[in-house]
This record gives sequence, structure tokens and C-alpha cells, in this order.
Amino acid sequence: MKKLALHWQILLGMVVGIIFGFIAIQFGWKNFVSNWINPFGTIFVKLLKLIAVPLIIASLIKGISDLKDISKFRNIGVRTIFLYIATTIVAITIGLLLVNIVQPGKGISEETISKLTNTYANSSSVQGKIIEASKQKSSGPLQFLVDMVPDNAIKAMGNNASMLQVIFFTIFFGISMLLIGEKRAKPLKKFFDSLNEVVLKMVDLIMLFAPYAVFALLANVVVSSNDPDLLVALLKYSLTVVFGLLLMIVFYMVLISIFTKKNPLWFLKQLSPAQLLAFSTSSSAATLPVTMERVEEHIGVDKEVSSFVLPVGATINMDGTSLYQAVAAVFIAQALGFDLTFTNQLFIILTALLASIGSAAVPGAGMVMLVIVLESISFPADKLAIGLALIFAVDRPLDMCRTVVNVTGDATVSTLVAKSIGKLRKPKPKNWDDNYDSVK
Ligand code: ASP
Repeated sequence: MKKLALHWQILLGMVVGIIFGFIAIQFGWKNFVSNWINPFGTIFVKLLKLIAVPLIIASLIKGISDLKDISKFRNIGVRTIFLYIATTIVAITIGLLLVNIVQPGKGISEETISKLTNTYANSSSVQGKIIEASKQKSSGPLQFLVDMVPDNAIKAMGNNASMLQVIFFTIFFGISMLLIGEKRAKPLKKFFDSLNEVVLKMVDLIMLFAPYAVFALLANVVVSSNDPDLLVALLKYSLTVVFGLLLMIVFYMVLISIFTKKNPLWFLKQLSPAQLLAFSTSSSAATLPVTMERVEEHIGVDKEVSSFVLPVGATINMDGTSLYQAVAAVFIAQALGFDLTFTNQLFIILTALLASIGSAAVPGAGMVMLVIVLESISFPADKLAIGLALIFAVDRPLDMCRTVVNVTGDATVSTLVAKSIGKLRKPKPKNWDDNYDSVK
């Protein structure tokens, strides 16, 4: 019997997980799900995060040391940053246009507002987001540059939140390797090439577990979701965000088809396991190893490009998050009767761009930075908690959707950059059991 393709297996796991979640709610098995099922999802996410740092180091060093001249690296860097900023601005603009046309905040009743406020405004989750945002904000404008440079390489590698520091150290290291000349760098190059192969094999092995893990993750999302009435009250807002996210995917498809001449549906199919994981884990950082594997082996982007573009993208390029921030900020303003001028909306574009760069690639990070977007349009500080309370109930499902767009955006940009410098080749997928017979 032909084996079901990985993306179908994962999709099946997700659907069964959701159905199981609803059955569990009916039969009162919530604790069973969180105590006995959810841990398997958590283990899977931990395994993916476990290999993120070694994978970034090994593949970035391999990518840079394969470059025959350093000026190519500058080329990749400039194109990447340009495309990341351009796609994010498109995302925010789509968000702003939609929310102004649909006006989801206008129809929401006083009763719903007070119900949401009573349920969430003083909850520790909402207050926690406001506190976290105020920590981020108290730093100076160049703080992000300072933060990018580690003072201890090992410490940076020991913390998944310091991805940019690891990237900085690795690029520095890789360039120095190029500069000592091929002959003297050879032992290190061989070491990192081999490390890279091993870590990619680890991704293959972890992915064998993916269909079961997404079952656990989604069953848990369902049992820990909020009151369905509240979800319905926020339907118009949620649909605005989801429609905007879909438009973004269409935009990527158009870019892929125009600039790479590849079939966009083929592109989506190759990327789909990474997208499904992004949806199930709500974390671009946890999805990164799979995104890298799909983009390199299944789409054919050369490592010289993907090893830089994808890890940087996972940390700074979040088109889905910035679109969501634009829609959410205006929705809150509409619902609470706070008039937004044209200048306010321009400010939203600017701060949502910066906020999406500053958002961590983990669940719920987009909401923290939303506080900063709201403050940029002089939203009254005493109403912040009420504002966040309005959208809190649907944050998790929207987070799942926006993370898919974040990951798709990174993959699209890496494919475009690769094409533009002649580094998009024929894909050569590897399987988990490629050498299994010889070691069995
Ligand atoms: N969860 C998102 C990500 O990891 C960030 C966010 O929008 O909250 O890409």
C-alpha cells in the first residue's frame, strides 16, 4: 500500500485531535487531555526547539563557507531585508484596508464589551502582556542592535530566545573561516558539513512523530479554548483577520509564480508540513527546523540562501503578526469609540512594522507588541487592559493562523532571493531511512 504523504498524515492527526478535543469536553475529560495527552505535544515542540540552535549554526556555517566570495553574502543580505520590509508593509496595508472597510468593531454591543472586560481585563494573562510590553518599551531606539551582539557565545547558544545573537556569532565565525582560506578552514568545514547532515536527519526522525504530536496539541487547544459564545461575538473581527491572512497567502503565490515561474500550488504542497506545524504549535521558532528542511530539500533553495534567510526571518519577519496587529489595533479603537485619524493609521504602519520585528517567534508574542502599537496612537493607558480583553478570547486561534503566514512569508522570500541570484535548483528530498539498510 502506498504510504500516505506526510502532510496528509499531519492533517489527519489535526482533524482527529480537534474531534477528540470536542468529545473530551462533552465527557468531561479535560484533565485527562491536559495530563496524559498534551505532554506528548509538548515533548515534540521541545524536540524541535532542541535542534534549532545546532541547526542554525551548522547550516549557516555551511552556507557561508560554500560561498566563493563574500560580496554574494552582502547581496543576499540586502535583498532579504528589502523583501522582508516590503512584504510586511503589504501585510499591514492589507490589514488596515480590510479593517476600515469591514469595521468589525462598530457593531459590537456594549453588553459583549462589558462581558469580555469582566472576564479578561484583570486576568493575569492580559496583565502579563501589558507588563512584558512595558519592559520592551523602556529601552532606547538602538537597543535592538545592542541586543543582537552577544557578550558570551555559549550563553547565547544556551538560550532559544537569543536566536539573533547566535546568528550574529555564526556569521562572524563563517566569514572569518572564509578569510583564512579554503585549505586551513577545511577541517572545520568538514565538521560542520557533517553536523549539518546529522541535524537534518534528526528533523526527519522527529517528523515521524508529527502526526501524533499535532493530535495532542490540537486536542489540548480545543479543551483549553474559551466560551464559544464569546468566540461567536468576535466572529466578524476574526474573519477579518483570517481573510487578510488568506490574501497574504495569495500575494505570496502571485510572487512565486511571477518571479520563479514555479507552480504556486506545488510550492504550497512542498511547504505544507511546515505550515501545518506552524498552525499546531503557534511558534515560528519551533517550526524553523522543518521550514529549513522543506525549503532546502523539497523546494530546492540553496543552503547559501536558506541558512541565512530563514533563521533571520523566523525572528524578524512576521507578516501575519503585523497584519493582525493592524487589524486588532483598529478593531479595539472602533469598539471603544476611539477615533483614529489618518496620521494615527500611518503610525500603525510604522509601529506594527517595528513591533513585528521585535515580536518573539513564540505563541502569543504578537499580542505583547500590540500594546506598543496601541500606545503609539495615544490609546489611553487606563483602557489598555480593556482593549486586550476584547480580543483575548480569540487570540490563540488567530495566533495559529498568523504563524502559518509568518512561516510562509519566510519561505517565499527565501525562494525569491534564491531565484534572483541563481540559487534555486532542482529539489533533492532525503528520507529518514536513506541509509537505514546499511546500518540495520
Ligand atoms: N506566534 C507567532 C509566531 O511564532 C508570533 C505571534 O504573532 O504571536 O510566529
